Amino acid sequence: MRLAFLIPIFAVYSFAQETATERDAASDVLKKMAALEKSLDVPGWVSRLSAADPARDQVTARARQLMDSELLAVGDDITRHPEIGFEEKRSVGILVDYLRRHNFDVTVGVANLPTAFVARFNGNRGAPSLGIIVEYDALRGTKGAFHGDQHSMQGPIGIAAAVAMAEWLERTHSPGSVVVFGCPGEEMMPPVAKTEMFNAGVFSSTDVIVRSHAVNSTNRPAPGFGTCCLNIDGVKYTFSGAPAHQMTPWAGRNALEGVIHLFNNIDAARTTMRPEARIQGVITEGGAAPNVVPDRTQADFYIRYPDAIYLAEVREAVDNAARAAALATGTKVKIDNYGRLRDGISEATLAEVGFAHMKRFGATHVAETPGKPQGYEETGSVSSAIPGLGFAAYTSNAPNHTYEMEADALSATGHQGFVVDAQAMTALLYDFATHPNYRGAVKREFDGIKALFGEYQEALTKAYTAPHVPDPR
Ligand SMILES: [Zn+2]
Repeated sequence: MRLAFLIPIFAVYSFAQETATERDAASDVLKKMAALEKSLDVPGWVSRLSAADPARDQVTARARQLMDSELLAVGDDITRHPEIGFEEKRSVGILVDYLRRHNFDVTVGVANLPTAFVARFNGNRGAPSLGIIVEYDALRGTKGAFHGDQHSMQGPIGIAAAVAMAEWLERTHSPGSVVVFGCPGEEMMPPVAKTEMFNAGVFSSTDVIVRSHAVNSTNRPAPGFGTCCLNIDGVKYTFSGAPAHQMTPWAGRNALEGVIHLFNNIDAARTTMRPEARIQGVITEGGAAPNVVPDRTQADFYIRYPDAIYLAEVREAVDNAARAAALATGTKVKIDNYGRLRDGISEATLAEVGFAHMKRFGATHVAETPGKPQGYEETGSVSSAIPGLGFAAYTSNAPNHTYEMEADALSATGHQGFVVDAQAMTALLYDFATHPNYRGAVKREFDGIKALFGEYQEALTKAYTAPHVPDPR
């Protein structure tokens, strides 16, 4: 554990910035963040909270027992009956039945999402409010839905921790609440489910949120702000034209030409764009017949950049490419920015303690160096507003989104890691519930990083300057 802290702390935090401009803009912020981290004495928290604690052992043993006796089997069942995003009716039914049998009050269908749910323990006693995000959607595959990302086990793992903590609250009359958030469709947008739920106030007044996710090495993020896979705008460009016979095309307007020009215009814009931009689109509608001038087409794009500030410029360039395409072809274009994924925040106070717990409970294939800073969920909406940790114990030999990872979910490899996740998650929630000073340290770290993230965004705004383009003479 301490090994990680021997790495120059500055190098660890630089990892979040992917371009020279970003590193420059972040240099002051990173110095302040290093000072903040030092003041938190994370290694001290790790050693204190890694010490023997018989009362906590009892609670984590209960989570383990629930996994071994019932919840691994529940997960296997969901793995064998995959349902894609927003259609997870059977999976949600199984999870909420289980929660109801364990004295949780469940509301299914929140934030206008029929397969989203909130389950509150009916013996809740105020703060701190411990939140657990669970997901259950399968991937869309060419052979049908499959659980190649092992979301099938997130519910059982989170529920084991939730029930163990709820029973402990009740037995000891301790202050605190347990809430399980069932979040659909992680692999799909629109809608961006967790953002919709966040905007509807579903997560409000939660003090900490945990979640688990399948991986092929046991790891945790470095503290800071960031995301796994760049900031993303999901945008649909819909062109409308006018239909006509192929023999009299001047009577029509060709929407397919609109969408083809869009792709070509984007390639032209790329020549003066920063190289880290990732713009990829597919044509989802391209017309119906070769003898009719296509009057409706659509392209769907994920537009990515390492930071949200320059991403806005990239977005504007792509939107303008679409407008220019419409102008050039006499068609019209509608622009629909249906989803945004942004940086989240990660805290070492939670990540390092959770990581120590995963190792204590026997996690294997351990990556000792902290990974890139990133939130515990991919939208950034929740993880930039509420502190938390995504547990990632080794559960597969295979990369994510593969048939091999689905097979591992049903094997001893997966099962062993899922039980580690459930126990480590329970232990961290217990630590958070029982140590007010620890909660204070987590909050101080989260608030500090959030403020520094704001400073970083401001510095970036100044760093990106556009050239002056004069009127032609
Ligand atoms: Zn996933």
